[in-house]
Amino acid sequence: MALIVQKYGGTSVGSVERIQNVARKVKLFRDRGDDVVVVVSAMSGETNRLLDLARGVNPEHCARETDVLLATGEQVTIALLAMALKAIGCDARSYTGSQVHILTDSAHSKARILEIDQNKMRDDLAQGRVVVVAGFQGADEHGNITTLGRGGSDTTAVALAAALKADECQIYTDVDGVYTTDPRVVAEARRLDRITFEEMLEMASLGSKVLQIRSVEFAGKFNVPLRVLSSFEGKEGPGTLITYEEDGMEEALISGIAFNRDEAKLTIQGVPDQPGVAYRILGPIGEADIEVDMIVQNVGADGTTDFTFTVHRNDYEKALKLLRQTATDVGAREVAGDNKIVKISIVGVGMRSHAGIASTMFQALAKEGINIRMISTSEIKISVVVDEKYLELGVRALHTAFELDQAPATNA
Ligand code: ADP
Ligand code: ASP
Ligand code: MG
Repeated sequence: MALIVQKYGGTSVGSVERIQNVARKVKLFRDRGDDVVVVVSAMSGETNRLLDLARGVNPEHCARETDVLLATGEQVTIALLAMALKAIGCDARSYTGSQVHILTDSAHSKARILEIDQNKMRDDLAQGRVVVVAGFQGADEHGNITTLGRGGSDTTAVALAAALKADECQIYTDVDGVYTTDPRVVAEARRLDRITFEEMLEMASLGSKVLQIRSVEFAGKFNVPLRVLSSFEGKEGPGTLITYEEDGMEEALISGIAFNRDEAKLTIQGVPDQPGVAYRILGPIGEADIEVDMIVQNVGADGTTDFTFTVHRNDYEKALKLLRQTATDVGAREVAGDNKIVKISIVGVGMRSHAGIASTMFQALAKEGINIRMISTSEIKISVVVDEKYLELGVRALHTAFELDQAPATNA
């Protein structure tokens, strides 16, 4: 008998039929004798619909009220799933985040989980009930409802699994595992049997939204065995195990390709090159709570510097305005921006021990006539910024160049 935390995403609970399908799946585990805690998302499209309602009422973002509103999406699905479970003879109880005391900080829309009280869940499990918990939400110390950021139900599931010391955390979604890249973009993408935490963290933070970044961080920190699987009938399989071990891994140079469409870049040119210049440029951006991702600085022969950085596309206009002000303050020549760019990244622990990966990447893009606008690297990833129109072409070219559609040998 195992204790399993299962999470079902928006598409998996997107209709009454799908909720009934989830109930049948959960019952299979119960019938086998497992204890099951289920985390659900809102029905697909619901969180966006609620956000649109909020914008219609007040174009200004009301952080606290938005969280109260968004949390209702998951409240619907927990109740329906608990009812569907009871309908097939499986005792169940639904709980909102605050009802199971998922204590978070007060950062509305991106709250972090601080503590979870397991008592209620343990009592229910002891009485043979399935515990159904609303994903994506908690409450702060004052009882205010908070949400954990888009895709946050993954994090709820992993956090519950960590708190309950579950034997496995299973993330059921609309694909049957983690693929070499988004199968919606590359039809030849291949499911990975395993991927390391490190690689999954890079993939998630570079744009593969199959798992929310924080859920992977959490799983790594608390050593939660994590698996991504399909919730759909006929698609049952082993899914993808996220693992610490590098033994038994595919001996691929690259494990996957991630991309992010939400990028924008800004450049300030002809800045008098003095100590502190980077701080003067990025200081106001940081103070405005805008996250900067890639940074490139070039000093020209004339002693001035050109400074380029990327931000989330939603922050583009705000960052551009601030940069124009900075340009006036520091006497820079020009400010330019582009919000039609994307970032494509290749990820793999195999990169550590192999040379020539960057040149293969650049060659594959060059062959397709794709101009690289920025490059950044770390130990296990290389990212490039290219024009938005080349996203699909670039990802496909890299997928082929690194032979990701073919299963390599394993190093077991
Ligand atoms: P859920 O609603 O179940 O949380 P998401 O839409 O958040 O599902 O995540 C699943 C989606 O992630 C898939 O439909 C797929 O298009 C996308 N995705 C992006 N990158 C990958 C990848 N490398 N492997 C699998 N799916 C990916
Ligand atoms: N419903 C939330 C969202 O759409 C949380 C989740 O699905 O994980 O982002
Ligand atoms: Mg998701």
